[in-house]
Amino acid sequence: MGVLSTVDIKFLPGVGPKKAALFAGELNIRSAEELVRHYPYKYIDRSRFYYIHEITENMPFIQLKGEIIRFEKTGEGRSQRLTALFTDGKRTIELVWFQGVKFVLEKLKTGVTYVVFGKPSFFNGRFNLLHPDVELPSQLPPPEAMGFQPYYNTTEKMKSGFLNSKAVQKIMQALLPHLQAGVPETLPAYLLQKYALMNLTESLINIHFPKNANLLNKARQRLKFEELLYVQLGILQQTKWREMNVSGFVMKKVGRFFHSFYSDYLPFELTNAQKRVIKEIHADMSGGKQMNRLLQGDVGSGKTLVALMSMLIAIDNGYQACIMAPTEILATQHYETIRSLVRDSGVSVQLLTGSTRAKAREELHAALRSGHLHILIGTHALIEDPVQFHNLGLVVIDEQHRFGVEQRARLWKKNIHPPHILVMTATPIPRTLAMTLYGDLSVSVIDELPPGRKPIQTFHYYENKRQALNGFIYKQIQAGRQVYVVYPLIEESEKMELQNLNEGYAYFRELFPQLKISMVHGKLKPAEKEYQMQQFASGTTHIMVATTVIEVGVNVPNASVMIIENAERFGLSQLHQLRGRVGRGAEQSYCILLTGFKLANDTRKRMEIMTRTNDGFEISEADLQLRGPGDLEGTQQSGLPFDLKIADLVRDSRMLEIARTTAMEILEEDATLSSEKNSILSQQLQKMKQSTSNWGNIS
Ligand code: ADP
Ligand code: MG
Repeated sequence: MGVLSTVDIKFLPGVGPKKAALFAGELNIRSAEELVRHYPYKYIDRSRFYYIHEITENMPFIQLKGEIIRFEKTGEGRSQRLTALFTDGKRTIELVWFQGVKFVLEKLKTGVTYVVFGKPSFFNGRFNLLHPDVELPSQLPPPEAMGFQPYYNTTEKMKSGFLNSKAVQKIMQALLPHLQAGVPETLPAYLLQKYALMNLTESLINIHFPKNANLLNKARQRLKFEELLYVQLGILQQTKWREMNVSGFVMKKVGRFFHSFYSDYLPFELTNAQKRVIKEIHADMSGGKQMNRLLQGDVGSGKTLVALMSMLIAIDNGYQACIMAPTEILATQHYETIRSLVRDSGVSVQLLTGSTRAKAREELHAALRSGHLHILIGTHALIEDPVQFHNLGLVVIDEQHRFGVEQRARLWKKNIHPPHILVMTATPIPRTLAMTLYGDLSVSVIDELPPGRKPIQTFHYYENKRQALNGFIYKQIQAGRQVYVVYPLIEESEKMELQNLNEGYAYFRELFPQLKISMVHGKLKPAEKEYQMQQFASGTTHIMVATTVIEVGVNVPNASVMIIENAERFGLSQLHQLRGRVGRGAEQSYCILLTGFKLANDTRKRMEIMTRTNDGFEISEADLQLRGPGDLEGTQQSGLPFDLKIADLVRDSRMLEIARTTAMEILEEDATLSSEKNSILSQQLQKMKQSTSNWGNIS
């Protein structure tokens, strides 16, 4: 049997040119070596029958053998549900179907011996099997002949091209002899030994066709470690390179602009946390290295002020600064806030967004180039516009998760020399994720809210409380407060989104004819959006009906109630962001999460977490747990620059730590990986970087 690297997948049995093209087009798989790295996403353990009493949490798909005692059908139409009580002769478990009920009832009988396949899930204090496969034992080969069955991710296109999971499995089977012939190792021997890892050949065989659960585990461990180690090596090597080759502006001086602002313009005392963080930032800015700092502070903790004061330090040292915000509303608001804070102190501030007119743009460009303009605030326009700075020294990026890695890289290029970077976010990045994304990111935390804030009270209401809620809204408005009502973005249909919003608007107008209502959504012209925001911010209108465009940053301290319609449609960090729009003044604020009655388990958990805690850090950890990092808001956009094929940032956080420490040790001893014993590492890393186009942009 030939060596894996010489195998052309086109010529494997069951492949051919069409399927090879599908592999390439859909999964970016072009060689047998890439194909064997397409790991199964699950396995069905068909090596044996399990007993119901053996079921524990987090099991893979398993099979049980026994009979159905009785059926019970509840509900009608879309809410129908079929439950079958199943016994293995010792205990019972429920099999549950929400779809295809009629078909199941026709096909299955009580008192017949069946083999049932499913993944146990835990619900209402008991295990059940949701939508299991049920088959007659006579239709199946004996368990000994089945083993673990691997399942592979495929796309719709692949499926319609007859390349489903089963077909992929067959192809892998055809590759098996090539694997058995031996695959070149991708980890150095000393690491395999140190961590007692399975070698690559065994690992690849067992990841596709595990002989038992123990070997599968070992294979997984090894492949995960390999994956995490190379990611860490790549990031840390990049960081080292930057440290050695890129110096930062030195901004030692704290001068006129900073001091005059501090003594004459600052409207309140800084919190201790704000003071500490400003010191940390100044230490970075004056240290000679390029700052790359994340400023975490929960919504309302006063990050804007910290940003402004950092920018004043840059200006004191003769540099310009800019703030980039994710939306036009937010950029405009920063502009208004900062302009009024610095008033006539001699700091010049300008706004640049998509709707800045050509003439204003030209003037602004000139002022930037000459250095007369100190602070530029804007949206993406900052990147897209051909603006050139006289000497940009500090870039502040607000609500970082909205910006991609690539966009950040483009901002660097506005200068010959890379400016200091301060990234502000209200959604803390869980440690595991930060470790995967950044090599040397320093973090400052504002862990204290300005004095006099009362924690927001959060309630989860079902639809039936709407009447009572309306009474509450009215009372709050009577007391001088203002109210947000937010509707979810409905991705499938912009029309529906607007319809929801319009209906909501009409509903409140009819309900409260005496009150004034603003409405904001993504489809409004910027000027109209701004007008509506302005009306609400100035207190002219009482209720703001909006989509999530108001999610980030908007600051109307008098608003004390946030009502989130269809809260089940929002992720945790989004809910937390929205909630942060209230609780910005001295009054008690409230957040009401409205949902329908039928909630999925995860949704129920989200509501429970929201009503229990205001702590952004706890919430983002929970979010990571519930959704997995792939779905974590922002990571998709800010883009992990590589795919993790097998490691999981949540479940494998301990291994990630080990991989990181190992990578550090290796680079400490051999920064360029040029020693003999690290030659495999160096080759593999090179390969990885070639296949990951935006690797160089990670910082
Ligand atoms: P975020 O961290 O969410 O961006 P902001 O910077 O928008 O928060 O600040 C929230 C509100 O708190 C603003 O109205 C701001 O003026 C106010 N604020 C900021 N710092 C202080 C402080 N030290 N004392 C009192 N109020 C403050
Ligand atoms: Mg903010």
